[in-house]
Amino acid sequence: MLNGRRCGPLTCLLLTVLFPGPPGLGAEGGQFTLHTPDVPSALVTSPALPVSDPNVPTLRQVVGHGPTERLTRPSEVVRYLEALAEAAPDRARLIRYGRSWQGRPLVMLAVADPHWWERGEEVMEGLARLADPRGLTPSDVDDLVAEMPVVTALLHAVHGNEVTPVASALMLAHHLLAAPDDPDVARILRESVVLIDPLQNPDGRARFLAENALGVGPAPDSDPLAAERDHPWPGSRSNHYLFDLNRDWFGLTQIETRERVRELLRWNPHVVVDLHEMGSNSTYYFPPSAAPGSPHTTATQDTLFALFGRENAQLFDERGWPYFIREIFDGTYPGYGATWPTAHGALGKTFEQASPRGMVVERDDGALLSYGDGAERNLQAALRTALTAAENRERILRSYLEFRQSAIREGETDVRAYLLPPGRDPGLTRRLAALLAANGIQVDRATESFSAADRDFPEGTWIVPLDQPAGRLVRNLLDPETPMDPDFLELQEERRAQRLPAQIYDLTAWSLPYLWNVESVAIRSPLAVRTDRVSPDLLDQAPGAGTAFPTDLPPARVGWLLPWSSDVAMVTAGALSAGIPLNAAGGSFAVQGRDFGVGTILARAAELSGDDRRELARLAHHHGVEPMAVGDGFVDRGISLGSNQMRRLPGGRVLLLWDEPSSSQSAGWARWVLEQRYGLPVSVVRAGSLGRAQLSRYSVIVVPQGNFRGTLDGPLLDRLRHWIRDGGTLITMGESTRWAASEDVGLLATRAESRDRVSPPATEPGTPIDLLEAVTPEREPPESISGALLRVHLDAGEVLAAGAGTEIPVLVSGNRIFSPLRLNEGRNVGVYAPLDELVLSGVVWDEARPQRASKAFLMRQPLGRGRIIAFAEDPNFRGYAEGTQLLFMNAVLLAPAF
Ligand SMILES: [Zn+2]
Repeated sequence: MLNGRRCGPLTCLLLTVLFPGPPGLGAEGGQFTLHTPDVPSALVTSPALPVSDPNVPTLRQVVGHGPTERLTRPSEVVRYLEALAEAAPDRARLIRYGRSWQGRPLVMLAVADPHWWERGEEVMEGLARLADPRGLTPSDVDDLVAEMPVVTALLHAVHGNEVTPVASALMLAHHLLAAPDDPDVARILRESVVLIDPLQNPDGRARFLAENALGVGPAPDSDPLAAERDHPWPGSRSNHYLFDLNRDWFGLTQIETRERVRELLRWNPHVVVDLHEMGSNSTYYFPPSAAPGSPHTTATQDTLFALFGRENAQLFDERGWPYFIREIFDGTYPGYGATWPTAHGALGKTFEQASPRGMVVERDDGALLSYGDGAERNLQAALRTALTAAENRERILRSYLEFRQSAIREGETDVRAYLLPPGRDPGLTRRLAALLAANGIQVDRATESFSAADRDFPEGTWIVPLDQPAGRLVRNLLDPETPMDPDFLELQEERRAQRLPAQIYDLTAWSLPYLWNVESVAIRSPLAVRTDRVSPDLLDQAPGAGTAFPTDLPPARVGWLLPWSSDVAMVTAGALSAGIPLNAAGGSFAVQGRDFGVGTILARAAELSGDDRRELARLAHHHGVEPMAVGDGFVDRGISLGSNQMRRLPGGRVLLLWDEPSSSQSAGWARWVLEQRYGLPVSVVRAGSLGRAQLSRYSVIVVPQGNFRGTLDGPLLDRLRHWIRDGGTLITMGESTRWAASEDVGLLATRAESRDRVSPPATEPGTPIDLLEAVTPEREPPESISGALLRVHLDAGEVLAAGAGTEIPVLVSGNRIFSPLRLNEGRNVGVYAPLDELVLSGVVWDEARPQRASKAFLMRQPLGRGRIIAFAEDPNFRGYAEGTQLLFMNAVLLAPAF
């Protein structure tokens, strides 16, 4: 009912705007509606599916509209699944597995025949035994394969602007419950458990709906650039922290992924589909996926991928729906919603439907693509997949089980285990071990010291055995290198010579010990050591959480020392936010017989109040840090505790530039690292508003990747320069370093280089030209790198390098090469290693190597009393580049004092 007049479902389009409440509250505010007099019925296709259980409510009965008549809101999605679970308690359960950053519920509907639910506990146990087949006899295996359901997980809309999968999820849920007499449905329920996650990224969906509602008129506009679908920065693909959740599956940095993985590891699904959308002009995509595949995928998995692909192809051919396979979307990078389950032995698949990005869009060929069209294709593809899984239940269970059994066998040869000794930064190593455990990997902890590979390892060393069911995922994440198919690489070399873009869809290197700058030791013989098993929940537990904390620091006349590490960076962030005065060492020293490196924190007894001491004691305990009490300040060597090189940390606020022209991912990554990883509050200010900001409030300004020409120039650039001269710290990274180094900005003395080129010899008149030489551009950017890990040497005497050692692996992506600063201009705190030791992991073309060797990675250029700190790459890459993230925190917390 609108404006007192009734309108039917086909002539009413209700568009609802959602006002997301403050983070954590999850409040969804009021709504307004626009009346649509004339929506062609073709645009709201509701496929006629059979209904044999009228007690199962439709979406319209619960929230007032049909699934393809309107973009359903996250709260309505939950309300509807609640209603379904209530109406069919014998077949469906609603699982609330967590909440998004903005507090929206994360839910899955589990659907199965009553006979599975009646044996609930036994089924969950059986599924767990299939996932960990150690100790099973052949007859146990036969029993499990005969008696257990196949688990099919259908995950929808991980990207907020991918709209139709949400509708198809609700249609599928209704169909599976309302049509128990349909033979396909009966088969699916009899043989399987279907998990439906209707909305993996509710915050992104809410942002899409809010922007859509701001742009919408009385009728849906099919113009591809209509404001209802062409949304301003940051768009609505990502989650609250602007992360791409479909890259986060092993990094587990985002709450949505972490909770979903925890829930899926309870079920150990055998078939997983991640339903996406792609550009409006495309058709439909399902696997088999593009080359190169992962070396950790087995031939049996490939055979089953082909079987599912053929089933879907048949469905699409029958209906005259175009589709494509294999062309893009490779299965190499293990952080996707398709590849991560595959690395566990499941059949993980990506489906992609062309997106209407709203109710209807006009494609380049003039055809209209509607929300209903997309939802229908997703629904049918998902249904056919669930049916194929049910029909091949035993075969799929056996494939899954054999994958996990053969992983164990493979782990008994070659590499037997990876060891992670506590090392330089024990807190960081603990966190990496906890991350692996949260990935469903068995991780043990040595409860005694031991020897292996001619080396002694202390008690507390983390042990990741390879002879475990998740052994292939261990190889995938911890091997220094994941090789790519040589035929594929050869093809890429040919394309490169023709200046065609590489067909590598994501990174070529992701080895976690490199990304985290944590030592990992491969052991090739059996280990004999007593161990404890690490809990998969360790990642959520701060070292001191849940234990009583001390009410004061240990007594000390001079003060307390905390040698720099990632944990001490967290303590420092917390202490500075609480106004506790801290100092940092600009050089190394020894006192009371112990050595301390650059960046060591000194809390002076004379500078702390009683409250300061209590709060610092609490912070240190929480983060597992033991401050060393200093009673005698007479140093054995190095700088004195009262030296000029022992500087007070300014503790001013941090400003992070936001909005255009920042890269939304880079801005989001930086914000997450500051706020969530290290607990440091940050003021997020739109770049276009910086001219009105009172810069003196801030001690640090972080410029995420982006080209700021046209936004930060003229008088504003002059103000920024004055602010730096007065003591400010400006941090740039990747493309913003290129901006700062450009000639007209002139903040940095380095230069972004062009490709090295040897001038071809002049051709004699009348002689034939060398065609390749003749078509090569005169000036072009350096060779691009598709995400590889390179070695950087650090100047360990600089506070910017504190806690990181003398070299660090860095993730390099793109074509930025910066000349090193000259000695009179600043310091090159990090430089790429010489050619022979440059590449640690991943694909780097031979021609791309020489020019990058010995070039600048991390620069510090003084200006007046302040400084500019420039990273050649994004140090906060996807929130999982823990090694370089510590360098970023050094720049934020320590560098302003030096
Ligand atoms: Zn997507």
